[in-house]
Amino acid sequence: MKFLNRYRLPVAVFLFILFLLIPVQLMVDNPMLLLERFLPGGGWIEIALIALYGVVVAYHMQDPSKVQAWRRYTWLAFSVVFFSQLILGLFGYEKFLMTGKLHIPVPMMILAGPIYRGHLSVMSILFVSTLVLSGPAWCSHLCYFGAIDSISSSGKTRRSPIRNKWALKSTVLLLVIAGAIVLRWLKVPVFTATLLATGFGVIGLGLILLVSRKEGRMVHCTAFCPIGTIVNLTRFVNPFRLTIDQNSCTECMVCTTTCKYDALNPSDIAARKPGITCTLCGDCISSCHASSIQYRFLRLSPRRARNLYLLITISLHAATMALARI
Ligand code: SF4
Ligand code: SF4
Ligand code: SF4
Repeated sequence: MKFLNRYRLPVAVFLFILFLLIPVQLMVDNPMLLLERFLPGGGWIEIALIALYGVVVAYHMQDPSKVQAWRRYTWLAFSVVFFSQLILGLFGYEKFLMTGKLHIPVPMMILAGPIYRGHLSVMSILFVSTLVLSGPAWCSHLCYFGAIDSISSSGKTRRSPIRNKWALKSTVLLLVIAGAIVLRWLKVPVFTATLLATGFGVIGLGLILLVSRKEGRMVHCTAFCPIGTIVNLTRFVNPFRLTIDQNSCTECMVCTTTCKYDALNPSDIAARKPGITCTLCGDCISSCHASSIQYRFLRLSPRRARNLYLLITISLHAATMALARI
């Protein structure tokens, strides 16, 4: 019975990935699956391979003690796939691009792009869909840029909270929105807007390489990136939550050094819930000797809520990896 239980989640992930990708292969005229572009019927092979990838990831991540390492490997793999396709696209191999056009790979463009252009992009639609389905998982499993911040911050985590985090986050968010409106209003050419967006991305990369690395925390993602701020503010559209059990928590503070998102500070432990920048990544779960940190989803038990979260998030991660290219 225990043996069968180990395979329940991986099998569910396998089936859910098929459910997400088969309609894409059958219904979309312009092949969205990469292998289909090179080999007729190759899309089916890609679906099978990516579903098997989901099985392996789910098998390992159902063990809370393996989440931190596996999330980092798989998120990095996601980013490598994404940026490899960007580089091939830059060298003129248009088959690697979803729409055949290059877009700036800076997450801020998910917000600023539609404001500047006046219409939604594929990436914006993808972002909103994942927000509805898996809450803040975009910022722990699905963003090509966040994976770099995750790697950079992998050292020892500082215990003190990031100071003035919300002042910085809200200022950057408002500046990005206002900037995109002004660029549109002044009919600033695409080339100039692209240069500005690239400059924003370079500043972000600087933060990742200098500040996040020093702090051992994802400072770029928790205090700078406007998409991260939107995720923080809108994550409650989705019912997944993380709680700290009122009675069993001994306030030992061991878990506070496992959180890279500045969401498990002593004040959060006292309030018995992670801070708003929590992305439900799950890194902290196994650090708690009292099993006090628990996933919640409506009336489901913590174990079922966590499995449901893994099912949705791993499937979206795998399916998006098969599709998402700029
Ligand atoms: S905060 Fe920004 S860069 Fe970080 S994971 Fe989220 S969207 Fe990506
Ligand atoms: S509180 Fe836990 S689940 Fe939330 S971001 Fe921090 S480590 Fe991840
Ligand atoms: S590790 Fe567990 S018991 Fe200790 S402070 Fe964190 S939630 Fe509480």
